[in-house]
Amino acid sequence: MHEYHKAVEWVEKANALAKERGASKVTSLKVTFGEASDYSPEVVKNYFDEAAEGTPCEGAKFDVTITRCMLKCPNCSKLFEKKLLEYRCPDCKVEGNPTDSGNEVELNDIVCE
Ligand SMILES: [Zn+2]
Repeated sequence: MHEYHKAVEWVEKANALAKERGASKVTSLKVTFGEASDYSPEVVKNYFDEAAEGTPCEGAKFDVTITRCMLKCPNCSKLFEKKLLEYRCPDCKVEGNPTDSGNEVELNDIVCE
């Protein structure tokens, strides 16, 4: 159900932004999903379409950016991409710590008219 809540939140946010900009229709939303987040862009979009009915967001598209999951080396502070079954710094071979990158689920901006 967290996808449903996110969808409703985005409809409200996008409608408010459109109003602020004096627009009557939202054509697309620029959104970011981290590949390590447990949100499915498709599921959010389905709920979004439902929640957007009859609002300026009706028919709006998602412009989706997927962010990679990054780890940070505790030794040299290098940021590196987490790969399947590979959590170690390519330089030091020590296990990296999780960072926020890869977990975000965000509405970055809207395109409206
Ligand atoms: Zn390192």
